[in-house]
Amino acid sequence: MKNVYFFGDGHAEGNGGQKDLLGGKGANLAEMTNLGMPVPPGFTITTDVCTYFMDNQELPSSLNDEVNTLMDRVEKVIGKTFGDTKNPLLVSVRSGAKESMPGMMETVLNVGLTESTVAGLVSSSSNPRFAYDSYRRLIMMYADVVMEKSNGVEVDNNMGIRHRLEKFMDDYKNSKKYLKDTDLDAEDLKILCGEFKNIIKKVLGMEFPDDPGVQLDNAIKAVFSSWNGERAKNYRKIENISDRAGTAVNIQSMVFGNMGTGSATGVAFTRNPSTGENVFYGEWLENAQGEDVVAGIRTPNPLNNESRSHQSKNLQSLEDQYPSLYKELFTIKNNLEVHYRDMQDIEFTIENQRLWMLQTRSGKRNGLSAIKIAFDLQDSNMINEKEALNRISSQHLNEIMLPTIDTNEEKNEPVITRGLPAGPGGASGQIVFTANDAQTWHSEGKSVILVRQETSPEDIHGMYAANGILTSRGGMTSHAALVARGWGKCCIVGCSDLVIDPLKKTLMINDRTYNEGDWLALNGSQGNVYGNRLSLITNNMRENPLFEKIMNLADKHRRLGVRANADTRKDAENARQLGARGIGLCRTEHMFFSPDRILSMRKMILASNLKDRQSALDELLPYQKKDFYGILKAMAPHPVTIRLLDPPLHEFLPQTDEKIEELAEELAVSIKKINQIIEDLHETNPMLGHRGCRLGITYPEITKMQAKAIFSASAQLIKEGIKPFPEIMVPLIGTAEEFINQRDIIISVYKEMGVDVEHKIGTMIEIPRACLVAEQIAEHADFFSFGTNDLTQTTFGYSRDDVGSFIYNYLNQSVLPCDPFESIDVDGVGKLVQMAVKAGRNKNSDLKIGICGEHGGDPKSIEFFNNAGLDYVSCSPFRVPIARLSSAHCNK
Ligand code: PEP
Ligand code: MG
Repeated sequence: MKNVYFFGDGHAEGNGGQKDLLGGKGANLAEMTNLGMPVPPGFTITTDVCTYFMDNQELPSSLNDEVNTLMDRVEKVIGKTFGDTKNPLLVSVRSGAKESMPGMMETVLNVGLTESTVAGLVSSSSNPRFAYDSYRRLIMMYADVVMEKSNGVEVDNNMGIRHRLEKFMDDYKNSKKYLKDTDLDAEDLKILCGEFKNIIKKVLGMEFPDDPGVQLDNAIKAVFSSWNGERAKNYRKIENISDRAGTAVNIQSMVFGNMGTGSATGVAFTRNPSTGENVFYGEWLENAQGEDVVAGIRTPNPLNNESRSHQSKNLQSLEDQYPSLYKELFTIKNNLEVHYRDMQDIEFTIENQRLWMLQTRSGKRNGLSAIKIAFDLQDSNMINEKEALNRISSQHLNEIMLPTIDTNEEKNEPVITRGLPAGPGGASGQIVFTANDAQTWHSEGKSVILVRQETSPEDIHGMYAANGILTSRGGMTSHAALVARGWGKCCIVGCSDLVIDPLKKTLMINDRTYNEGDWLALNGSQGNVYGNRLSLITNNMRENPLFEKIMNLADKHRRLGVRANADTRKDAENARQLGARGIGLCRTEHMFFSPDRILSMRKMILASNLKDRQSALDELLPYQKKDFYGILKAMAPHPVTIRLLDPPLHEFLPQTDEKIEELAEELAVSIKKINQIIEDLHETNPMLGHRGCRLGITYPEITKMQAKAIFSASAQLIKEGIKPFPEIMVPLIGTAEEFINQRDIIISVYKEMGVDVEHKIGTMIEIPRACLVAEQIAEHADFFSFGTNDLTQTTFGYSRDDVGSFIYNYLNQSVLPCDPFESIDVDGVGKLVQMAVKAGRNKNSDLKIGICGEHGGDPKSIEFFNNAGLDYVSCSPFRVPIARLSSAHCNK
């Protein structure tokens, strides 16, 4: 097996298509070499070796010979020898995984310097200061990365070897009254190198190796080990990168940007990554190494006039200072863009007036620039329209539709705690603890963040008024999460570090107390909470013609239908404007909470006989009819899936003594009676209790009233010349008989009414048993809609409202790869979905199948549903554009 791939002198053994094997950096170095670009020669050890190293804790036995053979080739190309005491070759040893993991793994530079080779470097460079500075940097990096970190030595930040060496250097500078590192001369650096070695021996109990071969061997192992460093592991978790992918190791001859005047280093983008404008954009520093540009100690110079910032406006550009080198770089950047057909992020070094390319990769960009770049490249025929669409990710689209925290401020602000990212976008506001306060403060023109343990339907008005919602409990499908997503509102839930005292109106986060009116900022896309006021950036992209362009293109390339979950006429209209063609879930329970009808609802629940219940239902009927009329009209002629009443009845009764007293007075019944009924309705586990179709089976008159309201609203619309299309959906079905029971009630109401309304009757599939007997149910149903919130809850046996209390531990310990309430669990819940689709269609080839759980707005889950053969996904109105784009991405 070939473990090592050479690149240099215009030829590489690998190429840009081999990212799995050579990592992104290695594949691109090979590709640039093959394109004839000036790349310092080197070789790449494959990611397979990393996997071998992880499994066996040692490198393959043949590796040493392969490395030596290729080192000989590098020496020939560059005309220097590794370990030579006259003109030594030095190498860098860098990580490079398939997916870029910036700064997450380790690098060792200047490998090959020893007591004897440093003397050679002094004479070959005629620059003793440079030689000893390079040696000093190697000793520091090697001690830190190889001798300490890769040996698993765990030390407090301030006690690590790197910190100790830096402190020694600072003390030395102070004793000499030097202000900057550059004040240290060659003699000083030579002394520091000696002292560093003494400290290393004392602290780590080992000698710094004075042997180039040992340095190289250990540096390779250390870089491989850094794949399993804490930082890298956490990053992979966040970015969903497989732990088995492994990193490659690139060994490359060093070129020096810090050899004095005429040497430099820089980073650049082939287009402006913030605006997407087609201008070469970057920074450079004379007499410096790459880390100096990144470290931000010196203000970098602009590459050209287009790259000037406020700080760099008076600094010399590369274009002015070295016009011919700039021209060479400019030609390379053009060639790279044409070759890769995408905006590139490049790194270069100039050593004694000679340009070297160290890296190229696809450049990270924000939402706005991603869209501009994609369409500009399409306009210039570099990519086709499908490729342009694939270059715009759902995050990019999200970013341009919702307000986000200004990243410049966010990056300097510590995260005070984290929760589940339930509603994307950003919010900054003063904290309040009750829904009423949120509403009042909002009406006074203040930005507010509503902080609650959890929310309930009674908090709706405050949630609506708030700029952001933060809860200490709940999961991705908790009430707060569902409502916030429906409105495109920033929301973080299940933030278990919050200690809320609603009476005192205080919030404690890790020993710090926040009072009502204090400022917090939320990043709802990542779940980060900040203890300060931060600025927001609002992108009203929906009015931008580019938004329409993306959406039209997405519609052209998708198979899946996209509907919305909406319970009000306004939400339905909004969803339609955002491109929803149908309502996939109209939850009817929210309709009963408004002040004009909650009393009738409560009367219905408190009724002790059928007559009283019927008279309360008669009061509710006109309200329901009006609601359905509005929603069906807003979406006509597209289908509206109306779900019969689902939640347990106790949710509609008041919770506090004060509210119970008020209700007793309003209904002229005793407090005792209300408490008695609340007691009777109490269930130990209401999520698995008297809810869903079980309600309609116990109280058929509820189903009848809802069916009547749907059909009479439809009949009225038909009279007005509008074509409504209701689909009546029965929740929480586990057996075919449950469904037949409810369907027959609906059919009998329809027949009794004598109306002529096109409609369908179907069911939610949200209980594992329904998946197992899908064939029996499909025989009687017109459609299935997967309720993946309950299906996830019942398949895992995790309460969807309490999952916040342990999900972090599960994710941190890799017990679960991701929150299954956020992204569908393909192996378990997904298998049930596939099984039900197959069985259902087997029995009923006309069966329409959709999904209306929260997963309907999650790009990864959408891909799964597309492949499972569903007809449509349904999601919150604000997720509709994301769902349209993600559906188009499925057919790559
Ligand atoms: C579901 O269970 O997935 C669903 C859509 O219904 P609800 O969230 O209202 O239970
Ligand atoms: Mg459900």
